[in-house]
Amino acid sequence: MSDSNTTLPYLEFHLTDHCNLNCKGCSHFCPIADENNLIIDTFLRDMKRLSELFTTISKIRIMGGEPLLHPLVATFAEETRRFFPHSTICIVTNGILLPSMNCIFYETLQKNNVTLDISVYPIARDKMSSYILSALQYGIPINFTDVFNFRKDLNASGDSDKYSTFKQCGNRFCTFLRDGKVFHCRIPALSSIANKKLGVNIPGDSYIDIHTNVLAADILEFLNRPSSACVYCTKATWFPWEVSKRKEDEWIV
Ligand code: SF4
Ligand code: SF4
Repeated sequence: MSDSNTTLPYLEFHLTDHCNLNCKGCSHFCPIADENNLIIDTFLRDMKRLSELFTTISKIRIMGGEPLLHPLVATFAEETRRFFPHSTICIVTNGILLPSMNCIFYETLQKNNVTLDISVYPIARDKMSSYILSALQYGIPINFTDVFNFRKDLNASGDSDKYSTFKQCGNRFCTFLRDGKVFHCRIPALSSIANKKLGVNIPGDSYIDIHTNVLAADILEFLNRPSSACVYCTKATWFPWEVSKRKEDEWIV
């Protein structure tokens, strides 16, 4: 049971770390990630625990990588709704695989009121109207975000002022769930990918293990303070979308 009427404002998690696109500087490090599919049993255990801790989660974003690459994407959507009946739930996708999804996928989204958040990248823009035909037929609500530019904001030396970066950070409430742990955002949660491929040393130890004896209030309080990873963020530099060459300077300022 949740300890009181507690709401977690936001939660995101990866169904896959890999992606079928390869965007330069992808903020989730997908071009340099190994193939990795979320295990359903891990997910169910985590959702059950979160549903004990929190009365609801206002918004849940099922992400990747490209979540449509996961063969059980419909099951994840259905189970997310089962645990959180009142949440806004969306699948965040680049849309390219939508034409290959079967009717079970679309029926599940329709039945469970799960929407699509489609990031429209230049490489897929011309064909997007054909990608979404089935979603429109099933009446799935779609939210489009046109993406023309990407940003890099990693400070490899890790000497930023964490209070300052956290205070100014637009991602500081992008709470990220990974393997039973709640992180402030994608940076500490995915630090092992960045550290392995970018030669940085971002701490991944700033998290709350939800399977310990914590309360919702502990998690909310933790999320309101900077992460130890915040010293690795800095003022962003922007560049136009292009295909990644998997070079360190696509991420590091
Ligand atoms: S489509 Fe999205 S998740 Fe995939 S590489 Fe591009 S930015 Fe990353
Ligand atoms: S590590 Fe801190 S400053 Fe960087 S994106 Fe996450 S919350 Fe923001």
